Amino acid sequence: MSFCPSCEAEYVEDTIECPDCNVELVESLHIKEEEDEFDWVPLRGVPGKVYAEMVTEILDKEEIPNYIKSDPLSTAYLTAGASTISGNSVIYVPEKNKDKAEEILFQILDHI
Ligand SMILES: [Zn+2]
Repeated sequence: MSFCPSCEAEYVEDTIECPDCNVELVESLHIKEEEDEFDWVPLRGVPGKVYAEMVTEILDKEEIPNYIKSDPLSTAYLTAGASTISGNSVIYVPEKNKDKAEEILFQILDHI
């Protein structure tokens, strides 16, 4: 199978180019899919970016993908309606890593 990296259509082996997008086909979209298909879930809010960064530092060491979403007042209007607490940082991890990540988060918050 060959795939179009642009529209992700599948083609038989001997097709070289996607007729719709005029781009060269690739052998597999697998790697891209794996990275994009995380089911990101939020951990419980951390009181401040400093703590959030402490947590993500350990998550990095444990090779758990993560990102921090903070809720500064300047962007509050963007999240109107969402149940976020102003000033908190929320760490997102893939759902499959949630248990481990929560354990790490709990240990750090326990030491505050
Ligand atoms: Zn295409």
